[in-house]
Amino acid sequence: TETVLVVGSGQSGFQAAASLRDKGFAGRVVLIGDEPGVPYQRPPLSKAYLAGSAGVEQLVLRPEDYFAEKDIELVRGRVAAIERDAAKVRLEDGTELGYDHLVLATGARNRALPVPGADLEGVLTLRTRADADRLRASLDAASDVVVIGGGFIGLEFASHAGRPVTVVEAQDRLLARVASPEISEFFAEHHRAAGHTLLLGVGVTALHGSGHVESVELSDGRRLPADLVVVAVGVLPETALAEAAGLEVRNGVVVDEHLRTADPKIFAIGDCACFPCVQAGAATRLESVQNAVDQARSVAAAITGEPARYDSLPWFWTDQTGAKLQIAGILDAADRTVVTGDRDAGKFSVLSFRNDVLIAVESVNRAPDHIAARRLFAADPRPAYADLEASSFDLKAHLK
Ligand code: FAD
Repeated sequence: TETVLVVGSGQSGFQAAASLRDKGFAGRVVLIGDEPGVPYQRPPLSKAYLAGSAGVEQLVLRPEDYFAEKDIELVRGRVAAIERDAAKVRLEDGTELGYDHLVLATGARNRALPVPGADLEGVLTLRTRADADRLRASLDAASDVVVIGGGFIGLEFASHAGRPVTVVEAQDRLLARVASPEISEFFAEHHRAAGHTLLLGVGVTALHGSGHVESVELSDGRRLPADLVVVAVGVLPETALAEAAGLEVRNGVVVDEHLRTADPKIFAIGDCACFPCVQAGAATRLESVQNAVDQARSVAAAITGEPARYDSLPWFWTDQTGAKLQIAGILDAADRTVVTGDRDAGKFSVLSFRNDVLIAVESVNRAPDHIAARRLFAADPRPAYADLEASSFDLKAHLK
C-alpha cells in the first residue's frame, strides 16, 4: 500500500490528511507534528481564546477519536531530515518512516526582533497555543503592555487583550502590508477610540531591563515603560528541512502549479510554500486559513489521481475593535480605489483596481459584499472598472 507522510500537523497538514480520507485514499496516512495535543487552529489564539471566551474545545480541529476512526496515524515528534534517495524521513528521536508521497506542511515561525534586549523576560510572541497561554497568564500581572507591529496579529492581540495597550508600527500606517490606506485609517480610528495608543512611523531600537523588560526604546529616542512586550513583526517560512534536502527555497519551499516541488514525490502547502499564484500573477507565499485548507485539498486530489492546477481565490479575515474585515483577492500595487457603503456607520467596502481591473475587495461588516466578491472573482478573475462603474459598483448586480 501507498504511504503519505505529512510533516506538520497544523491547519494545512491536518487538512491534507483529512482530505485524503475524504477522497477515499486507502493507503497509510501519517501526520507528524511537533506540537503537543491534537491538531488545532490558530485564528482564535489572537481573538476569542486570548480573550478567554473560547476554550481549547474551540481550538481543536477534530477530537482525538477522529484520528483513530479515520486511520490517520498521529506521530508526535519533530522531523530532523528528509532522505530523498531512500524516500524516507528521520525524526529527532531516530525513528525512520518511508513514504511514497511527502507533504511538507511545516508552516512558519515568528520573526525575531533584531534589537538588543529582545531576549529579556516579558518579551513574548504569539504563534502557538503555548504562546497564547503564556500571554494570557502574563496579561493579568502586566501594567504597561507594548505591542511591536501593527499587522493582523499585533492588532488582534491589542483588540482582544481586554485592556489599553501601546502599538508601535514602523510603517506610517497600520496593516500596511495587507490592507488599503482607507482600511488602515478606519482601524486606526477605532483602535484609538478603544483607548489604545498608536505610534506610527517609528521603529524600536532596543529593549531595556535587568532580567525582565522595563522599557522599549524607539528610533526617535523616546522610551516607553513596558513590563509586557508582544513582538508581532511577521513570520518566516519554516523551510530548513526542504533546504537541507536540496529542494529549492525562495521565500518558502518553491512549488509548481500543482504544489509539487522539483521532486515529484514531495509537495509543499500552506504558510511554508511559495507557489505560482494565478491572482497575483507571481510566485507568492500566503499566510491564511483559506490558503492552507485549499492547498491541502488540492494536494490530496493530486495524490488520489485528480491533479488540477491550483487556482483558488485568496481570501482573508480579521476581527478587531468589534469589526470584521474580510478581504477577497490580492491587494498589490492598486492604482485606484472606490469606497462603497456607509463608512461612518462602519459598514463599507473598498474596491481596489490596478490598470482598470478589480484586484481586491475589502469589506468591513459587509459580509454580502465579500461573498459577492468571491463569486465574482470565481466567475471572472478580472472584472473591469467600466463594467462595475455602470452599476455604481454594486457587486451583486454582476452575479449571474
Ligand atoms: P501551521 O498551522 O503553522 O502548522 C505548521 C506545523 O508544523 C506547526 O505545528 C509546526 O510546529 C509544525 N512543524 C514545523 N516543522 C516541523 C518539523 N520539522 N517536524 C514536525 N512538525 C513541524 N489566518 C486567517 O486566514 N485568518 C485569521 O484570522 C488568522 N488568525 C491567525 C492568528 C494567529 C495568532 C496566527 C498565528 C495565525 C493566524 N492566521 C489566520 C494564519 C493561519 O493560522 C495560518 O496561515 C495557518 O495556520 C497556516 O497553516 P500551516 O499548516 O501552513 O502552518
